[in-house]
Amino acid sequence: MASWRDEFELLCERCGYSIEGLAREGGCPECGHPVAASLPEARVGSAWQRGPGFGAWLATMLALARRPARTVRALRIERERSGRFAGVNIKWGAFLVALAATASLGAGWTTRSVPGLEGLAVTGPIGRGELAKLGLLYLGVWCLVAALLWGLSVVEYLGIRTFGRAHGKRITPTVAGAIVCHATAGWFGAALLVSLGHLLGAGMLRWALHHNVGLLRGPMMLSPGWLPLVGGLAGLMWFEIIVYAGVLRCKFANRERPDREPPTNAAPTGWENRLPD
Ligand SMILES: [Zn+2]
Repeated sequence: MASWRDEFELLCERCGYSIEGLAREGGCPECGHPVAASLPEARVGSAWQRGPGFGAWLATMLALARRPARTVRALRIERERSGRFAGVNIKWGAFLVALAATASLGAGWTTRSVPGLEGLAVTGPIGRGELAKLGLLYLGVWCLVAALLWGLSVVEYLGIRTFGRAHGKRITPTVAGAIVCHATAGWFGAALLVSLGHLLGAGMLRWALHHNVGLLRGPMMLSPGWLPLVGGLAGLMWFEIIVYAGVLRCKFANRERPDREPPTNAAPTGWENRLPD
């Protein structure tokens, strides 16, 4: 069974055997996996980890959708940038859902046919009171969705930490953080699909109310509810796939020991420049 002194000890990323101090050209004595493939620098990081920005966010989302296993295999084991990636996904995911809910409920797209929700719809001309109502509705939904997504992420984080302890995998707080934070891509996907599904469903509901659609009437009337549900489940599945792949590919992940980290890209100081050659 694999064992390690601390979270920085170099382990074979395949089997967990300690390969600290072995030549990088060699292989793991236990399973033959190349030592070089287990070095921290073999983890080049996600596009977002290499340099956050909108383009990097999009590239990371696409990579996590198309090749989740390969993307998490390259994750850098750190929490700061990963955490900001999660922040973006949860904040903007909540924004999408809140926007769709405000449009749907506040503007009365679906409200008038749902008993108990009629009061949320803005009926008269838009005044200060109506704007306040829409603002409160938006804010309420945003907080609810953000809290839900954040809470589910924390539960998953604790879950894989416990799994690691129980099964002898090195799922440290930093490893679990990097995995779960990247998995929040699934939350953004869920939020996008829930919002689009609800708006599409609202359109189908209105259509069914005014046209003869035969047997489709029932499903179409309920589509503002079940379409977002299907979208939300798809996003949840994406989240879980990334976490699963992450645990599989990062169970003995290595990271640079902080005190040994070389000062990369350190700009020469003025003092150094004044030294004679
Ligand atoms: Zn090995």
